[in-house]
Amino acid sequence: MIFSTPAPYSENRLSEMLARNAQWAGQITAQDPDYFKRLSAGQSPAFTVISCCDSRADPNTLLQSNLGELFVYKNVANQAGLNDLSLQTAIQFSIDSLKVKHILVFGHHNCGGVRIALGLHAGGAPGDWLEGVRELAHDHQLFNPASPEQANRNVDKLCELNVIQQVRLAALSPSVNAAWGRGEPVAVGGLVYSLSTGRVIDLDCTIRSRAEIDERCFSAMKAICARYQ
Ligand SMILES: [Zn+2]
Repeated sequence: MIFSTPAPYSENRLSEMLARNAQWAGQITAQDPDYFKRLSAGQSPAFTVISCCDSRADPNTLLQSNLGELFVYKNVANQAGLNDLSLQTAIQFSIDSLKVKHILVFGHHNCGGVRIALGLHAGGAPGDWLEGVRELAHDHQLFNPASPEQANRNVDKLCELNVIQQVRLAALSPSVNAAWGRGEPVAVGGLVYSLSTGRVIDLDCTIRSRAEIDERCFSAMKAICARYQ
């Protein structure tokens, strides 16, 4: 079942999914009668994940995590804006209340949001949601590719650069800096998922203090640019 391609929407889909849920919960309870009791007692996730909404890029499935392991926040193109009150609340709650010590920005190749920012996808984004991605594309001269192949490479390159940019912003968030100020060992890192291989790659940009933000982000972006040359 897990390897099947999802069927198109039909009026029965919701009832089918609820039946699958009941079957799944029943199987778990049969094997471990206390599992959901333990799970409902509280959460202690190991990671806070800032992920894209893309239906194919689910961190829990891709990292084969268990319920309670990942505290996941999703938006289009995995943005970590300092003015995003909802995200900043999630980061603060995860660090202050859940005592999470590792934040991960989880991007993916061929991201629809990144394609919109490059003008390669029908439709658009309201307001300035993808403005930072557009600026990044402009800085790295990723507009006006010479060929369709180059356009696709530019999309994936921008997906990775965007992860680093969002790692930088997450590392600048007030809650992360307050935790560092208290001497807590909080880390902020970035991953990218390849839709075509199923593999998740560590972009080697993990930041563990405010002092190393610029250097870590610069070297990670440099490594991406070298890889896509
Ligand atoms: Zn996406």
